[in-house]
Amino acid sequence: MPSQINHIGIAVHDIEEAAKFYTEQLGLTLGGVEEVVDQKVKVAFLPIGEIRIELIQPTSPESPIAKYLEKNGPGIHHIAYQVEDTGEVVEKLIGQGVRMVDQQPRKGAHDTLIAFVHPKASGGVLTELVQETGEH
Ligand code: ZN
Repeated sequence: MPSQINHIGIAVHDIEEAAKFYTEQLGLTLGGVEEVVDQKVKVAFLPIGEIRIELIQPTSPESPIAKYLEKNGPGIHHIAYQVEDTGEVVEKLIGQGVRMVDQQPRKGAHDTLIAFVHPKASGGVLTELVQETGEH
């Protein structure tokens, strides 16, 4: 069962460029930029209250985010729900016949275990499950 929204993922062409609105206009603070090699993306988090805005930039034309940007342009890409145990939730959803992008959890940015629900199963909203495994 998700306990809260963990972050909102926003697809961007360039993190530094896109972050300006959030830092200079809204006054948020940009956290460190991290590369997620197997997704071929760089991500940066902007904490706000209990949640974070996640800016996602492709590092290769092969990246799913590059394909997303090509099709849709920059904008909201996914909503991430925080769960205690990604594996358990994935198993439960699969048991309920929910179509998943990820059949099992994989490593996300910043010490997390993540899995994506297929947008066809969630009304067109790409939905991420995220379990925080690191220190905070
Ligand atoms: Zn995310």
